[in-house]
Amino acid sequence: MARVTLDTLRKEFDRGTIVAVDDLDLEIDDGEFVTVVGPSGCGKTTTLRMVAGLEEPTSGTVHFDDEDVTEIHAKERPVAMVFQNYALYPHKTVRENMAFGLKMSTDMTKEERHERVREMAEMMGIADLLDDKPDELSGGQKQRVALGRAIAREPEVFLFDEPLSNLDAKLRTEMRAEIQKLQKEFGVTAMYVTHDQEEAMTMGDRLAILNDGKLQQVGAPTEVYQNPVNEFVAGFIGSPSMNFLDVDVETDGTTATIRDESSGLALSLSREYVAGHDIESGPYTLGIRPENIEIIEEPTGGETLTSTVEVVEPIGSDNYVHLDVNEDFLARSPADVQPEAGDEVGVTFAEENLHLFDAETGEDVF
Ligand code: ATP
Repeated sequence: MARVTLDTLRKEFDRGTIVAVDDLDLEIDDGEFVTVVGPSGCGKTTTLRMVAGLEEPTSGTVHFDDEDVTEIHAKERPVAMVFQNYALYPHKTVRENMAFGLKMSTDMTKEERHERVREMAEMMGIADLLDDKPDELSGGQKQRVALGRAIAREPEVFLFDEPLSNLDAKLRTEMRAEIQKLQKEFGVTAMYVTHDQEEAMTMGDRLAILNDGKLQQVGAPTEVYQNPVNEFVAGFIGSPSMNFLDVDVETDGTTATIRDESSGLALSLSREYVAGHDIESGPYTLGIRPENIEIIEEPTGGETLTSTVEVVEPIGSDNYVHLDVNEDFLARSPADVQPEAGDEVGVTFAEENLHLFDAETGEDVF
């Protein structure tokens, strides 16, 4: 298996007018599963294609362990790739599709190839489909065939490009678990690209978040969720999204107050909080996650702010409560908190759940 290292990896298109990947540094440990996530066009696929050898970097290098593979042809790299559209040959049977990958990448005899295909097909639960053509299969079965074909080659690096996008929600959840199980069973290093932050949160040992070709943060899902390094990551990771408010902070070094005139927000931070954080007066963007907002149905006046309930959406265990704080402000409350549209409620944030970002750069400050 291999450790994958990307060093100042860069890809420009159209004579440098498009910077798809902007000097990316990323290391994926031997046997690690890293999910690369970010909005459409942020450079995920281009990064993956450079690791596969399908796209030539403008500058920078790709190493597998200590070997520089930047100049090595895709066919010579010990990688297998699984795509969203399965990339199966329509005129070949499942057996032929799976065997073909082995023929191209190994020197196995025909008998050995067929034996391996049978083993893999059994493992993937598709043994009874071996004589079928891709057209006769469901989306989930096709993706199983594509996975089986990829893993049969015993790659050192497994690359996934949005492999589950064409499947329905239930099947997607099943396949996520299956992919992770396979990856751990084979101990193969994996890089998994998705634009779906929810998928990214549930898969992978670490997430690498990209925006506009630039790496924003790398870390375990919970770490990124709890300690986003900037406003972009804070807003991108988590569903429903973190709420943001433009605020002013006033501090004399021992006490501090956060205010927002338009929503009436006024929050005095404790002396311990001020002593433990490097707080300066000025404009900030305050971030608070929906589940960290407490709704007080009968306000006493001591809340962080008061607001009018716009809509209540029950989701079973909890309610989503849309508030008239700014255009898009949402609290996630336990189901027994049941305000009605039009109610005036109190809204409280605990200071330990606050995120404050520099109003200009978006960097997390305290
Ligand atoms: P998506 O989730 O939509 O697939 P992505 O994050 O995978 O997006 P890429 O496909 O890597 O993003 O594209 C990154 C940027 O590079 C985009 O602006 C895209 O338009 C551009 N790009 C990608 N391939 C080419 C190409 N062959 N020629 C010109 N521009 C390209």
